[in-house]
Amino acid sequence: METRNLINGVWRSPESGRTIAVDDPATGEILAEVPEATAADVRDAIVAAAAALPGWRARTADDRGAVLRRFAGLVSERSAELAELIAREGGKPIGEARGEVAYGRSFLAWAAEEATRVYGETVPSWHEGKRVLVLRQPVGVTASITPWNFPLAMITRKLGPALAAGCTQVVKPAPQTPLTALELGRLAVEAGVPAGVVNVVTAPGPDFAAAVFADARVRKVSFTGSTEVGRQLIERSAGNVTRLSLELGGHAPVIVFDDADLDAAVAGVLRAKFRNNGQSCIAANRIYVQRGIREEFTAAFDAAVGALRVGGTLSEAVDVGPLIDGAALRKVRAHVDDAVARGARLLRGGSPCGPGGRFFEPTVLDGVTDDMLIFNEETFGPVAALAAFDTEEEALRRANASPFGLAAYVFSRDLGRVVRAAEALEYGVVGVNDGAPSTGQAPFGGMKLSGYGREGGRYVMHEYLETKYVSLAL
Ligand code: NAD
Repeated sequence: METRNLINGVWRSPESGRTIAVDDPATGEILAEVPEATAADVRDAIVAAAAALPGWRARTADDRGAVLRRFAGLVSERSAELAELIAREGGKPIGEARGEVAYGRSFLAWAAEEATRVYGETVPSWHEGKRVLVLRQPVGVTASITPWNFPLAMITRKLGPALAAGCTQVVKPAPQTPLTALELGRLAVEAGVPAGVVNVVTAPGPDFAAAVFADARVRKVSFTGSTEVGRQLIERSAGNVTRLSLELGGHAPVIVFDDADLDAAVAGVLRAKFRNNGQSCIAANRIYVQRGIREEFTAAFDAAVGALRVGGTLSEAVDVGPLIDGAALRKVRAHVDDAVARGARLLRGGSPCGPGGRFFEPTVLDGVTDDMLIFNEETFGPVAALAAFDTEEEALRRANASPFGLAAYVFSRDLGRVVRAAEALEYGVVGVNDGAPSTGQAPFGGMKLSGYGREGGRYVMHEYLETKYVSLAL
């Protein structure tokens, strides 16, 4: 297991002497200590990324694609080890961790192809004897700041397209999950990524942000994390007018119409809610069920939640693992207590459970109202909050009454209804009869407080490319 930082192709231990302990959320066991990188380490990484830029951007697109294909291949080859790292440091059940490796790999594999499709254009000029050429060129040195809930995929989603476009990158993983990131750095080196093109530094977030935004060589920062930190980055980016993309928090509504396929809706909502123990930015936070199907859906859904198996992350027979830390557990508990105090019915769960102090029972609350905390803030835990509605108009109005705009879900068999809903929902991702809409080919991202910018498929490429035109007088 690699614990040092990757700077300019060299593995080194920053000199601060301070370390960050990485633990297993299921047991509290310390898995490793990684160095707490300093501002000087971040600067070294930026210098390395800047020095490597001319060589990397000058490579042929085919060549960059080949390196990315090898990188994707190594992620596949080492998927068992990577999944175990994700499960141990992130608390994700092992089956889901394998799913994340495949999902994360898909960003590298797609980017490998995208590298060869960075087309320019020739625009017909309105002026005689002139031509207008449009060029698309790498933005340059980039940086990424990523969260703990998808320790591999949130990195490859940024790093793959950056490398494809001809950019270099300094990666800063979340302090809870640096081991997966450092392992990815090792695979990048093994795949033939030249020194300095990919750097991984385990610096504290504020120190990293201060260093990258102060350095005019860093032209773009891609961030996935909380809205609160996203706002701070917008302010910091003003100095050097650094480009930003922000994938922030969410508060996904689910609308289950009374014509939905009951079994598919139960399975879909279960997936949307309990994936990664409820710690996903597209987790189902508000589940609106139409009155005609309410009793039947609630009973079937509650039974399905009752069948979820809680336990340690390396066991195959586990659906729900621990929360990332004690603070996360306290937040989940506060949301449940607030809902119950204000009149919601607790159908199941509602308390911490198991050993280690970070497990929370899969929980179902019914009769949740729009004023309760859980219907307004991200819970990030295994708590399903249900409410009833009567009309399509009411459901869409309540679903859109959120400052967030990342993902929404609709369950219905009425084609007109799903099209109307999908068009009306003010969210960047809409799952229709689909509780797991994330896929590497699609443009993932949010509206409103969920941020701006899109990652995935061909859509992400413009995040790492500058558009330039050349006016040519013949
Ligand atoms: P976070 O914002 O606390 O941390 C995310 C990253 O930012 C970490 O690497 C952290 O070290 C760093 N950071 C923390 N403070 C910083 C600062 N002041 N300046 C610069 N960097 C700083 O979020 P988290 O708790 O790690 O992750 C959970 C959040 O991420 C949730 O809100 C979730 O919805 C969101 N998320 C969004 C997406 C998406 O694609 N929209 C995906 C996953 C998670």
